[in-house]
Amino acid sequence: MTQPPLRIYHLFPRHMNLYGDLGNIIALTMRLQWRGLAFEVIGVNPGDRPDFGRADLLFMGGGQDRGQKLVAAYLETMGPDIRREVNDGLPALAVCGGYQLFGHYFHTYEGDTLPGISVFDAHTEGGSRRLVGNMVAELSNAAALWASTEERAGESAELRTLVGFENHSGLTFLHEGTPALAKVLVGSGNAGDGCSEGALYRNAIGTYLHGSLLPKNPHVADHLLSVALRRRGYAGLPLAPLDDQVELRAHAAALERARTAHTAHLFES
Ligand code: GLN
Repeated sequence: MTQPPLRIYHLFPRHMNLYGDLGNIIALTMRLQWRGLAFEVIGVNPGDRPDFGRADLLFMGGGQDRGQKLVAAYLETMGPDIRREVNDGLPALAVCGGYQLFGHYFHTYEGDTLPGISVFDAHTEGGSRRLVGNMVAELSNAAALWASTEERAGESAELRTLVGFENHSGLTFLHEGTPALAKVLVGSGNAGDGCSEGALYRNAIGTYLHGSLLPKNPHVADHLLSVALRRRGYAGLPLAPLDDQVELRAHAAALERARTAHTAHLFES
């Protein structure tokens, strides 16, 4: 039987798309296409009333404070539906400005408080310093469990690091009990102190990593796709491994660059 198309809901594509975040959607859809799986990308814009019960995967990119201000109230109205589906296991990826709005609130440096949708038990405070640069992080134990519980195969499934680019002034504080996505090896991360990066809640991932994230972190892309397909009852898991040579080389090059940069003080030699 042909698999019905996997529905990827892309939240506010016009307002929340910084530093190549659209590349995440391209990576997801290409990895489906290469495996002969059908998909549909549904853009969710201000004023829309989407049925999140039909979503298989949710994505929201980053944005300037201005863009976040514009979409926050619209996102807030969708919050209860999104939370319900995430609680039911819907996989989601929220990057930077999107990640901030997936917490309880973002209190900007100018003094505005933007409401969040409380997917993550976390909040964000605007900071006076902009944290810009390449980041390398090591997946947390919770995230590293992916590989064992997971129907994935291939060399990229072995990756335990995340590489990307961060550019934010907001500092995100995870509340007690919220697991981080990863531990920062190079860069600033959640609270700008080089400790934790991103957050996990059920199958939702929040992260500061742009760049875009998924093309050079194919293990994360396949994790999201596997979860979405498993939730759909797809019989073809584990996913067929892809030829990820280019992706793995990009990942390795980013690791190497971070290792040799002067910011690499957290890397052990
Ligand atoms: N406006 C937010 C900040 O600077 C998010 C920026 C982003 O998405 N890159 O903290």
